Amino acid sequence: MKLMEIARSAFPETLIAIYTNGILLSKMDSTFWQSCHDNNIRIMITAYPIKLDVQAIKNAVKKFGVTLAWTSATDAAIMDASFIVNPIDISGSGDIVKSFAFCHDPNKCITLKHGKLYPCAFTAHVNHFSKYFGIDIPITEADCIDIYNASGGDKVLEKLAQPIPACKYCSGGRFTESSRKIKWHRSERDISEWV
Ligand code: SF4
Repeated sequence: MKLMEIARSAFPETLIAIYTNGILLSKMDSTFWQSCHDNNIRIMITAYPIKLDVQAIKNAVKKFGVTLAWTSATDAAIMDASFIVNPIDISGSGDIVKSFAFCHDPNKCITLKHGKLYPCAFTAHVNHFSKYFGIDIPITEADCIDIYNASGGDKVLEKLAQPIPACKYCSGGRFTESSRKIKWHRSERDISEWV
């Protein structure tokens, strides 16, 4: 709730949305919904073919006057949901400029984690992949920017606009031929899903 207040006071005119798969929404209490309303925060559900208490969500949205939107418009689109795999190049032999140039993530999925800003979710969270599969994909200070040490907004934007060392572990973004689409399903936790 505090985060909603801070975001709204920093960006009074901006559309601010919480993106979620919706699973926890029906469990959120009234203070959450009231805060969404008071701070004009939209709820944006990325719809997956999973069990969701849609009616409970709709009831809360209506009761508190919150705007709700879905990323998929129809049930058919949801059931046909697919996942775009941008393969991880565990050899780390990729061309960082090329990977970055074709990547859809930078400046779209900027990720803030423990006070550090990453240009993409991959860099911020690949540690989980590395740990699970016992693969070393090093993420260093050169891959992110510490918001407490950044010397200004321009420096942050400059950093986010450039390839980072971790790009060599990406085989490029969804616009490259190495990218592939798979039908949405529960992960079998096999590395073949990722590389
Ligand atoms: S590491 Fe580079 S190429 Fe890979 S997702 Fe992030 S910005 Fe894109």
